[in-house]
Amino acid sequence: MAIERTLSIIKPDAVAKNVIGEIYARFEKAGLRIIAAKMLHLSREQAEGFYAVHQQRPFFKDLVDFMISGPVMVQVLEGENAIQVNRDLMGATDPRKAALGTIRADFANTVDENAVHGSDGLETAKTEVDYFFSTQEICNRTR
Ligand code: UDP
Repeated sequence: MAIERTLSIIKPDAVAKNVIGEIYARFEKAGLRIIAAKMLHLSREQAEGFYAVHQQRPFFKDLVDFMISGPVMVQVLEGENAIQVNRDLMGATDPRKAALGTIRADFANTVDENAVHGSDGLETAKTEVDYFFSTQEICNRTR
């Protein structure tokens, strides 16, 4: 299996619930390393740009409004098969359908406010990491 990087966001609902540490613990227990992290209060432009792929979807405006409603915690996770490992930790988009013990099952209330974001493929992961982090902000943790 390949060592991958993926972009993770702890969304405003989960930051407000004060569960950043609990979510980080799940990443670490699953073998993912945090190699960059920052707390940001996104501007409307930043959120719209990040979710540009969903621009035509009916939930786009509500999604952007939610993502700028409070600070988010953004991190780059690295590890074997990191993209899928993180998606498995997150659970299904709709927390009512998310498997027991996943982040969304435990911390999210609705499909609109669902606690976390995680890149869904290699190409998106690269684009999303580059959207938030410069090369200098990402640490080498191979030691
Ligand atoms: N979303 C929403 N309403 C919907 C579907 C999606 O608000 O009916 C939001 C939700 O926050 C989700 C994001 O749009 O996490 C991106 O949707 P996607 O289908 O890519 O889900 P994800 O990859 O986050 O599981």
